[in-house]
Amino acid sequence: MTTEPNASAPVPAEATVSNRRGFATRAIHDGQSFDPRTGAVIPPIFMTSTFVQDGVGGFRDGYEYSRGGNPSRDALQQQLASLEGGTHAFTFGSGLAAEDALLRAVLKPGDHVLMGNDVYGGTHRLVSQLHQKWGVEISTADASDLDAVRAAVRSNTRILWVETPSNPLMKVADIAGLAELGHAAGAVVVADNTFATPYLQQPLALGADAVIHSTTKYIGGHSDLVGGAVVTADASLAESVGFQQFAVGAVNSPFDAWLTSRSLKTLAVRVERHCQNAQAVAEALVGHPAVTAVHYPGLPDHPQHELAKRQMRGFGGMVSIQLAGGVPAVHELVARTRLFQLAESLGGIESLVCYPSEMTHASVKGTELAVPEDLLRLSVGLEEAADLIADLTQALDSLS
Ligand SMILES: *Cc1c(COP(=O)(O)O)cnc(C)c1O
Repeated sequence: MTTEPNASAPVPAEATVSNRRGFATRAIHDGQSFDPRTGAVIPPIFMTSTFVQDGVGGFRDGYEYSRGGNPSRDALQQQLASLEGGTHAFTFGSGLAAEDALLRAVLKPGDHVLMGNDVYGGTHRLVSQLHQKWGVEISTADASDLDAVRAAVRSNTRILWVETPSNPLMKVADIAGLAELGHAAGAVVVADNTFATPYLQQPLALGADAVIHSTTKYIGGHSDLVGGAVVTADASLAESVGFQQFAVGAVNSPFDAWLTSRSLKTLAVRVERHCQNAQAVAEALVGHPAVTAVHYPGLPDHPQHELAKRQMRGFGGMVSIQLAGGVPAVHELVARTRLFQLAESLGGIESLVCYPSEMTHASVKGTELAVPEDLLRLSVGLEEAADLIADLTQALDSLS
């Protein structure tokens, strides 16, 4: 059997030692050493499908074929594993491809997946429309309510899946509490850390078994790629996910891996500014007569503000608002903002506005995952905060 040479290789001892260095330092250096042949300070992009062998099975540095392992992907995987405090990371062509690999690595027919009732719509769709066909059960519970989750656990619950802060209502779930509860039930605890990023929140340190990322969002950070990742510190889980990555091959390209590594190097400074801008926007919108609710964990009256302060280094760049004028006001507002462009996705340098009910969450309309129809989600970008506030205020002021 051909085995995968690199994808399940653990992070080298040097990287483990470097976990004691600060986040921004690790983001720039771990997995990203200079090219030994030329001294190029930035690792090259290895756009190659295959690798020449020195005699049959004579692999250079373990490389055989790029579905199984590619130096650009490995560099990113080491960098990500270090930043999440894991031992292994696996990157994919999308966040959902990463989720699928993790689900397949863990589940068998008859198993039950328990999810937060406000997880990303595509995550719920993946299990309810694809995995369910193969005998997997799914149900949801309010992940911000530990008793509700405990009551929803079944004897066959094999995965407890949490996303915090949640999309688009920005609810915060207690990862440590859920990890304890999930482990008591014998479940693998998965945290989707896309909204928070490893800079703001470290689910593995809080007890989660695996972290999921859509690297399309803050990690990519520039709205120019689609990708995903699984990170874990559990060796046997890593082996199974690595086998999925190798056997299915839903990997990201060497170029996308390189671009994602480049983006990770500025994650700390970007996320700091996203947090500052989002806090300023959220505070400016509170009390506006056209706005009935502002959902942002950094506001003192957010229901889980204290938990967010304990669990996160900052409150992130996502804010959602509800409008007094309901659905007509939603359509008017998205036509009137100039800097906040109407688009799906989030986490990029530019500010975006999204109407979840008809866009990102259209697939869960009419289900228990449906979101309020008067709700708009803002991905607050890295423009000047004053310009962002002025843009939203002029649009809100002119609502009929
Ligand atoms: C976008 C997103 C996903 C899916 O990732 P893709 O890269 O679009 O496949 C999963 N979880 C969250 C929280 C997301 O925002």
